[in-house]
Amino acid sequence: MIDVDGVTKRFGRTTAVDDLTFTVRPGRVTGFLGPNGAGKSTTMRVVLGLDRATAGRATIDGHAYRDLPEPLRRVGALLEAGSAHGGRSAYHHLWWLARSNRIGRSRVAEVLGLVGLDGVARKRVRGFSLGMKQRLGIAAALLGDPPVLLFDEPVNGLDPEGVRWIRGLLRDLAAEGRTVLVSSHLMAEMALTADHLVVIARGRLLADAPLDEVVGDA
Ligand code: ADP
Ligand code: ADP
Repeated sequence: MIDVDGVTKRFGRTTAVDDLTFTVRPGRVTGFLGPNGAGKSTTMRVVLGLDRATAGRATIDGHAYRDLPEPLRRVGALLEAGSAHGGRSAYHHLWWLARSNRIGRSRVAEVLGLVGLDGVARKRVRGFSLGMKQRLGIAAALLGDPPVLLFDEPVNGLDPEGVRWIRGLLRDLAAEGRTVLVSSHLMAEMALTADHLVVIARGRLLADAPLDEVVGDA
């Protein structure tokens, strides 16, 4: 479970997130919807301890991210694509992440298979398309088999087949009882993917409700 409790984040004069409160529950896909610049990434970064809240607090299963034992086994996250070192192979990138988190090497081959990158595991990430980088980021998020997952705009750069694949993956992860938060600026995409929506604009909460209450029978 993810708890965002009265979180405000300011960057100088810009209020990116404005007294935002919501809870992300396990067993369903929660869509985090809002236009570009609404504050979705910043909220996720606060949850992940990458940005410090100006006010309020975010916790994962009751702990601030920095207090989580074995963070990668507790929370998986996909932020922007391309965070992997371009000169490394996909395998090496994941192997390095696994090793620094004491995750067994066999899990690396497993997640490469899960995201469909097994055929290009030895190729350098530099040559990857945006879609392949997204898949690699998702593999990294899944590496620790975490019960809590955050995906920031995961369908960006994916072709229609990749979009359908992500949709299925998110639904499977939720069906396994995991807590899944996925951001998007695309209402139509969220309507096909999410069970529950948290809608924000200008850093503020607009709606926190089951999908059918927000979009009807679209
Ligand atoms: P979203 O993910 O919904 O597109 P963001 O969280 O990226 O929105 O951005 C929310 C607002 O905060 C925007 O106005 C953005 O320009 C601003 N912002 C985000 N990160 C920074 C930063 N590191 N420094 C200054 N402003 C930022
Ligand atoms: P680099 O390109 O920097 O040599 P690699 O991705 O080739 O990095 O490999 C990183 C580590 O993972 C090395 O210890 C390598 O032996 C091991 N390794 C790479 N590919 C596999 C694989 N398919 N199965 C098992 N171990 C592998």
